[in-house]
Amino acid sequence: MQHYCEEELKFCQALPKIELHAHLNGSLRDATIRKLAIKRQLDPSLTKLIEKGDRTLSECFKLFDVIHQITTDHETITGIASEVVEDFAADNVRYLELRTTPKTRSEHGMTKRSYTEAVLKGMQEAQGRQRASKGRSIAVRLLLSIDRREDAAAALETVQLAAELQSRGVVGIDLSGNPTLGQWSTWEPALQEARRQGLKITLHAAEVYNPAETEAMLHFRPDRLGHMCCLDERLEALHYSTGIPVELCLSSNIITESVASYPEHHFHPFYSAGHPVILCTDDSGVFSTSLSKEFAIAAQAFQFSRLQLWQISEAAIDHTFLNEEEKQDLRKEFENARLKLQAEKCS
Ligand SMILES: [Zn+2]
Repeated sequence: MQHYCEEELKFCQALPKIELHAHLNGSLRDATIRKLAIKRQLDPSLTKLIEKGDRTLSECFKLFDVIHQITTDHETITGIASEVVEDFAADNVRYLELRTTPKTRSEHGMTKRSYTEAVLKGMQEAQGRQRASKGRSIAVRLLLSIDRREDAAAALETVQLAAELQSRGVVGIDLSGNPTLGQWSTWEPALQEARRQGLKITLHAAEVYNPAETEAMLHFRPDRLGHMCCLDERLEALHYSTGIPVELCLSSNIITESVASYPEHHFHPFYSAGHPVILCTDDSGVFSTSLSKEFAIAAQAFQFSRLQLWQISEAAIDHTFLNEEEKQDLRKEFENARLKLQAEKCS
């Protein structure tokens, strides 16, 4: 079943957009996963799964496993990072914060640093190609993720790496992974260090009902939070009082069964309360979506006008991990895009 209208999708594609919650591996094109799976001679039965558009939750998890198995060498990592940036640029995303967990794979000579450098190389190559083609420009920054399976030392290693690579486009730290694993106290010291080093912080939070952890995360005062699906009234009030912007991913929450239906999604109560919300994709490849589609879905589910869609898109600039001057450049870009669309409408 389609949850958006084609006419609205066209408008959302023309809308300049900001993507702040996108995982590198989850944003891979199906065709690329298929090509790499064949190259790695993975089980041919996986081809069906890769080609299937509307995936169930268990199929999504299987696909993440496949992606993990095929992204083992630096060249592939650079290639996928480059392709993902191009795909967001093609969807008229003007600023992208991509996130990824640096991986150590000693059997492939890969360290967290060499992995991250391969990602940065792909991002730079794609941005260079965009500029050379005089197509739509896209600015990209990287967040390094701490996986909840990691211990305190591994988390700190990621933070130190991010701090060292700040001049090359790493702007922040994310905490993500299976929400039922690990303890907040394990990663908090590393996250405190990230803050001390001038890195911004976003946390996947309240993906499952874990009031003690969610409260501790809110008291930590990260720069942004992701998801916030499972809150009781007290936590919701606490979250509102902090004003911490929240990254919300409609399709992801529906497919992973965190939310029952689009109209019931907590995007709307947050938005109606005037709390800062950012519409994001999470894993556009695995969940077969795009940021334009997420905007079109929001338009249908919450009856948003085009002016509201534009305002939601532009407001995301305030919540990027850019400095004030860079944010100002993006605002100018949005203004130019608005004038251009108006001129096209009048001609
Ligand atoms: Zn996520």
